[in-house]
Amino acid sequence: MDDLLTEEIRAVRDSIVRFMQTEVAPKMDAIEASGVFPRDLVRKCGEAGFYGAVFPEWVGGTGMGYLAAAVISEELARNDVRFAACNNQQGSTCPYSIYCAGTEEQVRKYVPNLLAGITIGMFSITESGGGSDAAGNMKTRAVRDGDVYRIDGSKMWASMSNETDVGVLFAKTDPDAGHRGITAFIVEPKKYPGFEARPIRTLGLSQALRTCAVFLDDFVVPVENRLGEEGEGFRIAMRTLQAGRITVAAKALGVARACMDEAVRYCNERMIRGSALGSYQMVQADIADMATNIEASRLMVYQAAKLMDEGRPSNRLSSMAKYHASQTAKHAADKAQQMFGGYGMALESRITFLRCYADMFFTGEGSANVQRILIAEDALGYKNADRHQGSTRFRDPAAERLRAAG
Ligand SMILES: Cc1cc2nc3c(=O)[nH]c(=O)nc-3n(C[C@H](O)[C@H](O)[C@H](O)COP(=O)(O)OP(=O)(O)OC[C@H]3O[C@@H](n4cnc5c(N)ncnc54)[C@H](O)[C@@H]3O)c2cc1C
Repeated sequence: MDDLLTEEIRAVRDSIVRFMQTEVAPKMDAIEASGVFPRDLVRKCGEAGFYGAVFPEWVGGTGMGYLAAAVISEELARNDVRFAACNNQQGSTCPYSIYCAGTEEQVRKYVPNLLAGITIGMFSITESGGGSDAAGNMKTRAVRDGDVYRIDGSKMWASMSNETDVGVLFAKTDPDAGHRGITAFIVEPKKYPGFEARPIRTLGLSQALRTCAVFLDDFVVPVENRLGEEGEGFRIAMRTLQAGRITVAAKALGVARACMDEAVRYCNERMIRGSALGSYQMVQADIADMATNIEASRLMVYQAAKLMDEGRPSNRLSSMAKYHASQTAKHAADKAQQMFGGYGMALESRITFLRCYADMFFTGEGSANVQRILIAEDALGYKNADRHQGSTRFRDPAAERLRAAG
C-alpha cells in the first residue's frame, strides 16, 4: 500500500508518528483526566504543518494535497483519535469554507492562524431538528441591523465551540427561501456577547476536545464577516463537506487500524488453554475480515483523495470511501472488543473509546444512510453524484495546486 504514497507523504507520516508518540501520547491521559483543551499541542501540531496539507502556501498551507491530508488524518486517528477530534475544525471544514468562499481579506485574516493552530475553529450547521436534513431543519435566524447581523437560535453538536476563536456558522437570512435562504458567517464568539456553548455529555468521546450545544441570543456578527453572499450558505456548506468527507473517512480508517493494532497485540499476548488467542481459527477468521476490510477501505480512501488532487469527479467515490471506512471501523471495534473479553469493557482499554469513535464516524459528516442514499441514487441513475463538479464560483485548492504545477 505504501507504493501509492510519494516519499514526501511517507516522510510526513513518519513525522506524525514521532509527534504523536513523543508529544501527545505521554500527556493524553492527563489531558483527559483534567478535561482541559490542549491548546499547546494543537499549536505544535499546526506549527508542524499537519493541518495545512490541502491549502496553498499563500494561506499558510503546505500544498501537499488531499492524499497527504488523508494520510495525516489516518495516522493522527490511529495514534490517538481523541486528539484528532479537532482535526477538521483546524485543517478542513472551518478554514476550507473561509478559503473557498471568503474575500481575500477574510482568507488572509483567518485561515493562516487556523492552520497554524493559533486560533481554534468550529463549523456549525447542525441543529436539534436533525443534521441529515440540516437545511430543512434550520431555525436559527440572522437579521441584518445596519452594519451587523443579529443571530438568534441554537445549534447542536458544534465541536470545539466551547474553545472557538473563529468559526463558521450557518443561519437563515430568508426563512421562506428553503436552502437558498441560508447564509454563512465567520463568527468570533470571544469578541461578541450572546454566544454560549455547553458541552454535551457523551459516552467514550474525549472529555477535553468536546462537542457542544450552542445558544445564540442576539449574537452579533459584523456585516464584513458574512461569508459569500446572502443565500449562498448551503452551497458553501455542501462544497466544504464534500471536501471534508475524505478526511473523515481517513479518520475512520485510522480508528479501524488502531483496533487492528490492539487486536493483534492482544491475540499474541493472551493465552487461553495454553495457546495464544490468535491461534484459534474463529479468532483468525475475524482478524482476516478486519485486515481485508482495512485494505479495501484504504484503497478507496486513497483513490478518492487522488481523484480530488487531480481535479477529477470524486464525490461518488468519497461517499463510498466514507461509508466503507466507517463500516470497517465499526466492525473492527466490535471484533476487537470481543477478543478483549471483559477487558474490552474496562475504561483502561483503548478499545472502549475506539468503539465510541467508530460509532461517531458512522453518524458524523453525513451518516451511513445519507451516504447510501447518494450512492444508490447514483447507481440507479436518478441523480449523478458528481453533478456539481466544476463550479468556478469558489476557490479550489486542487485547481490552484494543478495550476502551480503547470
Ligand atoms: C460527536 C459529534 C460531533 C459532531 N460535530 C459536528 C460539528 O462540529 N458541526 C456540525 O454541524 N455537526 C456536527 N455533528 C452532527 C452530525 O453531523 C450529525 O449528527 C449528523 O449529520 C446526523 O444528524 P442527527 O444526529 O441529527 O441525526 P438525524 O438526521 O436525525 O438522523 C437520525 C438517523 O436517521 C437516519 N436517516 C436520516 N435520513 C434518512 C433517510 N432519508 N433514510 C433513511 N435513514 C435516514 C440517519 O442515518 C440517522 O441514522 C456532530 C455529531 C456528533 C455525534
